[in-house]
Amino acid sequence: MTKQNKCVFCQVARKEIEHNQFWEDENHVAFLDNSPLTFGHTLVIPKKHVGYVFSLHENEYLNLLKASEKIAKALKKATKCERVCLGIYGFEIDHTHVHLTPLNNVDEMKHPIRKPSQKRQKDFAEKMRKLTK
Ligand SMILES: [Zn+2]
Repeated sequence: MTKQNKCVFCQVARKEIEHNQFWEDENHVAFLDNSPLTFGHTLVIPKKHVGYVFSLHENEYLNLLKASEKIAKALKKATKCERVCLGIYGFEIDHTHVHLTPLNNVDEMKHPIRKPSQKRQKDFAEKMRKLTK
């Protein structure tokens, strides 16, 4: 098996795994984090398998940030949070992913919420689908 075939986020991008994907364009997919830090915590990924964000080509990197901006604006509207914060770490899954976390203050980052129900996640994904059309 190739690295891309085994990669969870490549499978999410190919829609082989249901992950509350709510938006995509030709090169990116946005979906809800399964263990959100705050409600609405979203991941934006390039469809192309690249592990380390700074290994992306410049235009891919800029396009990923542009896609993240679009999603962040909708996320702010949907959650009415103070700010949508952006982080790129990549230690857990070796496929570049942008974390978009709705926050009202920095302390919210220290105390992750309890995992929302699947229904609540699904309903929120539907809300985001409409806001990002
Ligand atoms: Zn991948």
